[in-house]
Amino acid sequence: MVDQPVGASQTQQETVRRSTPSAAEGAEPASGGAPPGSGDLTEELLRTDQWTDELVAAAGIPVTDAPFVSIGGGIGSFVTVDYLRIAGVATDRIVVLTNLDYPWQTYEYLTRVSQIPRPERIRSDSASRPDNIWGFPSYALAEAVTERTLAPLWQVLIEPIWADFYTPKAGRVFAGLERESNRIGFPKMLVKGQVRMVRKRQGGGYFVILTPMVGSTKTKRLAYRAEFVHLAVGYPGLRYLPELQEFRTAHQDFHHVVSAYEEHEHIYEAARTKHLVVMLRGGGIVASRVLQRLMDDRAKYGLSTEIVHLFRTYVSSAHGPNAWNRRKGAHGFAYQGFNYPKSVWGGQLKAEMRRLEGDQRAAKYKLMGGTNTPYRRRWQAQMKEGRESGWYRTMAGTVGAMRLEHGKIVSCVNTSHGMTEVAADFVIDCTGLEADIAEHRVLADLLVHGGAGRNPLGRLDVERSFELRGSGSGPGVMYASGATTLGGYFPGVDTFLGLQVAAQEIADDLARRGFCRRIGTFRSIRQWLRWARNKQS
Ligand SMILES: Cc1cc2nc3c(=O)[nH]c(=O)nc-3n(C[C@H](O)[C@H](O)[C@H](O)COP(=O)(O)OP(=O)(O)OC[C@H]3O[C@@H](n4cnc5c(N)ncnc54)[C@H](O)[C@@H]3O)c2cc1C
Repeated sequence: MVDQPVGASQTQQETVRRSTPSAAEGAEPASGGAPPGSGDLTEELLRTDQWTDELVAAAGIPVTDAPFVSIGGGIGSFVTVDYLRIAGVATDRIVVLTNLDYPWQTYEYLTRVSQIPRPERIRSDSASRPDNIWGFPSYALAEAVTERTLAPLWQVLIEPIWADFYTPKAGRVFAGLERESNRIGFPKMLVKGQVRMVRKRQGGGYFVILTPMVGSTKTKRLAYRAEFVHLAVGYPGLRYLPELQEFRTAHQDFHHVVSAYEEHEHIYEAARTKHLVVMLRGGGIVASRVLQRLMDDRAKYGLSTEIVHLFRTYVSSAHGPNAWNRRKGAHGFAYQGFNYPKSVWGGQLKAEMRRLEGDQRAAKYKLMGGTNTPYRRRWQAQMKEGRESGWYRTMAGTVGAMRLEHGKIVSCVNTSHGMTEVAADFVIDCTGLEADIAEHRVLADLLVHGGAGRNPLGRLDVERSFELRGSGSGPGVMYASGATTLGGYFPGVDTFLGLQVAAQEIADDLARRGFCRRIGTFRSIRQWLRWARNKQS
């Protein structure tokens, strides 16, 4: 089961359970489309793949010209616009269509609910700075200077052998993004609303249809006529494990069975008032974070919370194809500092992946991907204590069915030793944001009407330059970056650095097409100096 695109209005928890269009989006016109002249999508527009200016005018939809439109407005849009501004594009040539107020809004929501509030450290490294395309000064250097301590620099020097990887605090990342957003005039380029579709325009370029915020305009839709379009819509949606979704729907219980990507503070609060058994599902970093919170609270408040951790794929030792290519693993978890080996962002794996096609690429993704979490010494010590004292138990298996019994949620777990039942007060699903791209309305429309296709992992098929294959329209080009393009020639797409690598490819491609300047050595140095002095770009 998949819900709405993540981020649509995530400050409200009900968003992730909603399966109807958002308030901004409104209801679709009844079958047959809206009448001509009504300012809404007519039947002819809905069924035509390539629109003429006259067709849009006949529908009564107001048209605004914008050479470059980025859809999404999250961190992917932000870093792309940052590159373009640094490459000399003025703010009046860029429009960002989004339902967010600021680019880190969805990211902050997801990290906060999955237990990375502002003072906690995120996963990526010191040089992955979405607010600074040069990655210098790194987060570690900035932290050392502002907090007057050598500790972050020492950690970077000795990581990962003698210390865990240095990672920045979420709050520092957001503060940097806010500064850069103001510097490049990002708020000036924002138009709020829900993008409904992108269609090719006869004569070149695209029409992007936006449903503006309710009451903000006279017509229900606005059209943006753009030569270049960039899609950065983030995760298509939240996906619950089927048995958890069935349980939630059957019992209308969104309180005892939750996703880690929903608000679930009530579970930590309940644990402070009584003895609880909490079942965790999943073995990635979000599971580690939720586990850390339960273990921290247990220690801090002297609680008696018991944790049963269920892994579908239980990793008990180091694993990999040969002695030189192995990933650490133990007690259920596969350990890796970052989502992928570091060389995918700029080393031999990056070069190798650019050459692979079809099944070969899919096989390589399988080999180096998979669920994993960093090895952090603090977590290890906490889990060890839990295992030894008996309040933290791990299991391997899949859940066949779930039922409610005497106020407990009983999961029937199929293990290699047969079926066993686990009763818990709460179940937290930490398995992910893995919805199919067709669940996202704009992407589904592009698959049907826009010529877009799927890559070997089933996501959007993009070129090495991040151009969306099959979607070219005369001199117009559509690009896509972020999680929707995972499976392409560059694996690290859904990370800060990956979004920046994509943005750089897009900016280079646009420079070749004459839309912006190339960021050569002198421009780069000049622009870095402006960045350092916080001078408007
Ligand atoms: C919990 C968590 C922790 C992470 N930690 C890290 C980390 O430490 N380091 C790292 O490098 N990466 C991390 N990532 C991965 C990634 O860098 C972030 O998810 C990043 O925010 C992705 O940026 P994005 O622009 O692709 O998506 P988002 O930032 O989510 O922005 C896309 C936005 O588009 C908007 N949108 C979607 N459809 C429409 C529409 N039709 N109309 C208008 N707007 C629309 C939505 O509001 C959506 O939020 C993490 C991800 C998660 C979930």
